[in-house]
Amino acid sequence: MPVSDAVLTQILAQLEAMQVSQQTMQAKLDALSLGVNKTPISPLEPKSTDRIPTLSSPAPAGQPSLAKVTTAASAEAIITTKSAMGVQSDDSGRAALSSSPPVTGAKGGLTDKEREKLLYPGRVNLTTYPDQHGIDPYRLHWGASTPEERGPVICSRLPSSIKHRNAIGAHSGSYSIYRALSIAMGALNPTHKPDYSNTEPPVSIPPNPTWSDPSKIVSFDPYGHLVPMVYRKQIEEQGLDIRPSIAVTKAHLKMSELDDAERRGDLKVDGHVVLRSRPIMNVDGTPSDAPPGVEVAVSKAAVEPVWYLPGVAERFGISESLLRRALFEDTGGMYPELITRPDIKVFLPPIGNLTVYIFGNPAFMSDESKELTLRVHDECNGSDVFGSDICTCKPYLTYAIEECIRGAQKGGVGVVVYFRKEGRALGEVTKYALSVSPFPIPPNIPLQPRYLVYNLRKRGGDSADKYFKSTEMIAGVKDMRFQALMPDVLHWLGIKKVDHMVSMSDMKYDAIVKSGIPILRRYDIPEHLIPPDSRVEIDAKIAAGYFSSGKKVTEADLVKTVGRTWEETEH
Ligand SMILES: [Zn+2]
Repeated sequence: MPVSDAVLTQILAQLEAMQVSQQTMQAKLDALSLGVNKTPISPLEPKSTDRIPTLSSPAPAGQPSLAKVTTAASAEAIITTKSAMGVQSDDSGRAALSSSPPVTGAKGGLTDKEREKLLYPGRVNLTTYPDQHGIDPYRLHWGASTPEERGPVICSRLPSSIKHRNAIGAHSGSYSIYRALSIAMGALNPTHKPDYSNTEPPVSIPPNPTWSDPSKIVSFDPYGHLVPMVYRKQIEEQGLDIRPSIAVTKAHLKMSELDDAERRGDLKVDGHVVLRSRPIMNVDGTPSDAPPGVEVAVSKAAVEPVWYLPGVAERFGISESLLRRALFEDTGGMYPELITRPDIKVFLPPIGNLTVYIFGNPAFMSDESKELTLRVHDECNGSDVFGSDICTCKPYLTYAIEECIRGAQKGGVGVVVYFRKEGRALGEVTKYALSVSPFPIPPNIPLQPRYLVYNLRKRGGDSADKYFKSTEMIAGVKDMRFQALMPDVLHWLGIKKVDHMVSMSDMKYDAIVKSGIPILRRYDIPEHLIPPDSRVEIDAKIAAGYFSSGKKVTEADLVKTVGRTWEETEH
């Protein structure tokens, strides 16, 4: 039956009326909850010096009225919370943590229910919608030519910022959970304002044209280390909670492999990149005669993930909507705004960060006349830290560091990028099941998840032809690292070409070259650095198409390449 225009108009008018009444109700509810919160619940009356000039300080005139009211009311609630939770103020009035352990003893006699009300006075907001009352996201123009035009990334849920959020997720990647625990236990004041004075990067990573190319950097914020400087106005004057997502610093590395290399004569002390270590001390405090070895001067940067969703979707060749749906569903529905806020384009995912180590003068990275040595390394905690010999990760990494140092000493620069993508991003639980466990499980004990693929390889016969098959049987996929986002960091550093690439991975090579950075030479791991038990992994990789300068591995060879069995692992 055809519907007349008059009926449609009537329905529309009714819908509009409903919307208006809903907004009125919402405003009344907000005002009501604010009124309640203005009465301090704590019996501890806050002193005037307790007032915290935090991010939630009243916003200046010109701010949206709702945000302003919320801010003022919440500041009081937080002061009360602060007193109740054993948070003290120093002379400057800034909140400082009580020196006594706050976890059990500093709840001010409040029940957890009362503390919950103080910490989170508002109603639970499961999600937000673009046209919701009071929603006013800070304009963010990814890829704009200046930080001012681009706008700050804001994902804070503090009262001063929640209405202006333009990013979903939380800072610090997976560590956001520990922050949540600290706040819940009363160890951290949720409005703690970081003091950024003297945190300016001691090493300059200056802007380059890729910072304002929306297709070159999509997986972190290129201005992440400059936030306190370039968004000072928004932080100090507008009271917005904007945090750095990158930190740059300097350090000295001390690794026993580098000591060995210096002893062998493969590394030379130059007093600039490679320095002689201070004498080793005896137990009685006297200097030992034992050779102290060397240490290496580096510049380094920690980079937190900040995903520009349209750009990430484009890299993977999928639609933004499919990406959002997958992220929502397969994180247990953690981020409903991925679905309800299509206007918010930035997501801070709960994943690990990356770290850049620079050997030599950082300014040389963008200088095409200087030779650049690069390794892009994906985390392998078992090998990198604990020296497990199932794989070649640590020997390859230390070999790359040596190459970077030698490159720097010859007047070039070396870069190692370390990604927290454990076990081809399958995670250690799945990976252990795939690799050789140093702790064999007696056959009568049922398989535990963390041993899944380790065990399959050992029980099924650990040969190179089965290496990727084992992975696929357990994980359903050979590799989840998907290097498509990896080259972002190279562009951020200003790298325009790679002279020496210390990696065998075709996925890494292809991703870098495809992103517009040519690679002139590749280096596989020298034979003498391959631990016997990791032959399985390396041969499987070569046969699967990984780069190798000399060795050709056929399908027939793979069957012959076997690792230790459980029996051999027991000693
Ligand atoms: Zn490894």
